[in-house]
Amino acid sequence: MNISKDLVVKSKHRDMAPNLFRESAYRAVDWIADYLEHVDRYPVLAQTKPGDLKSRLPNSPPEKPESFGQIASDFEKIVLPGITHWNHSRFFAYFAITGSYPGVIGEMLSSALNVNAMLWRASPAATELEETVLDWLRQMVGLPEEFEGVINDTASVSSVNAIAAAREFAGLRVREKGMSGRNDLPRLRIYTSEEAHSSIEKAGIVLGFGQEGVQKIRTDESFRMDSHALEKAIRSDIDEGVKPVCVIPTIGTTSTTSIDPVAEISDICRDHGIWMHVDAAYGGTAAILPEMRNLFRGWEKADSIVINPHKWLFTQIDCSVLFCRRPDVLRRAFSLTPEYLRTPEEGEVKNLMDYGISLGRRFRALKLWMIIRSLGREGIADAIGDHISYARRLAEMIQADNDFELLAPVPFSTVVFRLRPKTPASKAWSESEINETNERLLNAVNQTGKAFLSHTKLRDKFGIRMAIGNLKTNWEDVSETWELIQREAGSLLRA
Ligand code: PLP
Repeated sequence: MNISKDLVVKSKHRDMAPNLFRESAYRAVDWIADYLEHVDRYPVLAQTKPGDLKSRLPNSPPEKPESFGQIASDFEKIVLPGITHWNHSRFFAYFAITGSYPGVIGEMLSSALNVNAMLWRASPAATELEETVLDWLRQMVGLPEEFEGVINDTASVSSVNAIAAAREFAGLRVREKGMSGRNDLPRLRIYTSEEAHSSIEKAGIVLGFGQEGVQKIRTDESFRMDSHALEKAIRSDIDEGVKPVCVIPTIGTTSTTSIDPVAEISDICRDHGIWMHVDAAYGGTAAILPEMRNLFRGWEKADSIVINPHKWLFTQIDCSVLFCRRPDVLRRAFSLTPEYLRTPEEGEVKNLMDYGISLGRRFRALKLWMIIRSLGREGIADAIGDHISYARRLAEMIQADNDFELLAPVPFSTVVFRLRPKTPASKAWSESEINETNERLLNAVNQTGKAFLSHTKLRDKFGIRMAIGNLKTNWEDVSETWELIQREAGSLLRA
């Protein structure tokens, strides 16, 4: 970053001197602009070994102030080599994300304002911008007006909050009396699929259902929750005196992006008076495209839905939106106002602290507002549409290659496949050999530093996942990565 000299070391505020801040921040912005423009020059996956970074840092904190020029230089020399570049256009692991330019600016400004949007009066603009921008998002994804949104850090927290609301909705007075040592409380259960994200099981642990209180319903050959098995599980639980509290279908599961039959599940929930929370953390943003809406049939009947702009809406981590059709219930689950947080506007305004576990909250709506305005609904839809079409083309190329096979349907922008060698014809490959070979193939591809992909296991088959989702990714990135995979596979098979 080349901050040559610290202009003034001390300021009367004990903070960095304003003129030094100005110079350093200008240089940081230049650095960010160059970094984001040329991020593809870095190896995608950090090429470091465990302990590399720690061994280069002092064990104890500095006693005296250090020059910012030195700190910035250490950032480049010590920290940067340990970075895996999520901004790289060939980052295809987990779910690819984007630190978009308007989002960087939004983060910078919200960091400068440093407001805590816990109460309306703690920063009226932060609350009202959040309400407005989430209503825009609601319209963009085509959800009915009664859904109100609130921003949390992650989907994990959004789901904990939603399931806490479900528990409140069940009328068990858990808020007042807790769950332990109660003769009047039956065993409680929540239901999700065996393909659901681990955050749902964690929510079960946190909220006192316990792992045994999280029933994982089997999935069909397309990894979709079997709604008949769900209905059966609920009925049998009711017969045995267990109380069903919440069903959590997923639109876009983590491993394969499969889509549970939400419309059928919502009928079951309605019949039994059970809260339905839809995990659309990844898939939800695809509903911005009207032609994708058929995949979301039934989600409008949900009680709550989580969508992560920090996954596929080009928004910096963290930003997760919990939409709730019954915000009064969510509020009932969480609202608790000690004297020191009372304000004259109570009842007239929304105090965001009432809608979840955290009191303090960052001003995350600012970046989302800047991104939606900068790209426009159309720009966002175009980018998502391109990602989906790249995934479909890639799936066709995989199917056309005799030595590879798709392991799951491709409804969104993530493709799961594996090497299934047909050569040499004389060799009969066992499943465990195929698994090992695919693991070696994935490692070989990642070690090139040219692309980064991750994996999953489907019915004991090791699958390579290629998740397309970065704003900069174009067809060349996808097709050249596919060629790289084919080349590495060829070398492996020849070795
Ligand atoms: N739900 C799904 C379907 C996910 O794929 C993920 C993460 O990949 C999550 C929830 C958890 O997201 P977060 O990291 O925001 O907690």
